[in-house]
Formats: sequence, C-alpha cells, structure tokens
Amino acid sequence: MLSAEQVTVRYGRGRQRITAVAGASLALAPGQRLGLTGPSGSGKSTLAQVLALLRAPDGGRVRLDGQVVTGAGLGVPRQLRRRVQLVWQSPRAAVDPRLRLDRVVREPLIAHGEPPEAHSRLLAEVTEAVGLTRELLTRYPHEVSDGQLQRAALARALVLRPQYLICDEPTAMLDVSTQASLLAALADRQQAGGAGILLITHDRVLADHWCDEVRDIRDLSLRAQPGPVRV
Ligand code: ADP
Ligand code: MG
Repeated sequence: MLSAEQVTVRYGRGRQRITAVAGASLALAPGQRLGLTGPSGSGKSTLAQVLALLRAPDGGRVRLDGQVVTGAGLGVPRQLRRRVQLVWQSPRAAVDPRLRLDRVVREPLIAHGEPPEAHSRLLAEVTEAVGLTRELLTRYPHEVSDGQLQRAALARALVLRPQYLICDEPTAMLDVSTQASLLAALADRQQAGGAGILLITHDRVLADHWCDEVRDIRDLSLRAQPGPVRV
C-alpha cells in the first residue's frame, strides 16, 4: 500500500504563502486502478509529487508498504525510491532535451545500477509495450510528437517495474485515439505486473471509464468531509 496520511503542502513565504494540499489522505493498493480528479489548481500534481516521494510534505506523512518515508527525492533510500514512479504532467519539461529517447528510457536502469547486460532486453520489452518503434528511439525529444514523447516518459517510468505508478494527466495533451491506445498499453502492463496505478486527470468521464475507483481531491481532507458538526 502507498498512502498519504493527512498530507499538507504549502508553497511560498509570508503573505504569498498558499496551502496547495490541506490534510489529504489517500491510499493506493497493489493492482488497483485509482483515479484522482479535481479542477485545475486543486493540488493534484502537488500530491502526486508527495506520493512519488519527490517532495516531502509540510504536514502528515507518506507510508510505503507500512514504512513511513522520511525525506524526498535522492534523500529516500534507493530500494524504496524505485518502487514508486511518476509520469509527469508535462513530458517536455520532465525529459532531458539533450538525450535521445532510448537514453531517456534507459536512464533509471543506469541510475539504479541494473546489470548492463539486462538493459537491452528491459528497454525492448518496455518500449514495445508502449508502442515505440526502434527508429523513434534514436530521435531527440524535439524530433517527436507530444504523444510519442509521452510514450517514452511512460516507458521510462515502467522500466524498473515499479509497484506503484502515478500518472499525472498522462493523456491531457493527446488526441482521443492516442489517449485510448496509451491507456490500453498501461492496462496491459498492469495486468502483467500487478502494479497499483494512480491516474490523475481532470477528465471525470475518462477516470470513471478506466479506474476501479475514483476520488475527488476536494474530498480527501478531514475538514472537507461532510457530516455532523461536533460541538
Ligand atoms: P493541479 O495539479 O490540481 O492543477 P497543482 O498541485 O499544480 O494543482 O497546484 C496547486 C496550487 O499550488 C496552485 O495554486 C498552484 O498555483 C500552486 N503551485 C503549484 N506548484 C507550485 C510551486 N512550485 N510554487 C508555488 N506554487 C505552486
Ligand atoms: Mg496538475
């Protein structure tokens, strides 16, 4: 289980200070397809980064398979970090423009010290799963479409076979048929590996269609819960 427990995140200082996520709790189980929706600016991407262990919350905690995770990013032990991967909302901002796509996808294998003799096989497996051709893999990010780059970003997130995958609006920039084929690839991959997937989208119809369960971020905080008022 990957869970956020009463997570609060604030940005800025002094009068500029805003609370982006206010005491949100959410749990993602292995094999589950959980949807997270909410309007723009409601804190979805911020919560995604906390759950992906890339940002430490200002309040609350994140628990990964029972263990409270302290710190964030490179401060998190490698064995924990590799179990959770994030597909960023904007692949153009998240992918290094100087690297060809095959190197983009291979990068986590290098960073996590996977044996080099396994790289080619893992790369071939995952790029085929997301529908990238060998030719596309030789190109730079500026030489491919948004949809193709998003496939590479997804392959990169899948290459270490994470237990939990957080996809932040992975199809927002894609046309409907590309969106459908990307989500089908993700579903296939999940059936093969049993990962838990959190699909973040502002598209409620899409979420209802693809996910087992859908939550709205505005309903994740205790104080936002409707119910009797205690006096
Ligand atoms: P969503 O993904 O639901 O659109 P975000 O998590 O991106 O929401 O943003 C939540 C709030 O936090 C917004 O008000 C946004 O402007 C603010 N915000 C997001 N990232 C930053 C940042 N790095 N610095 C300051 N404010 C931010
Ligand atoms: Mg967002």
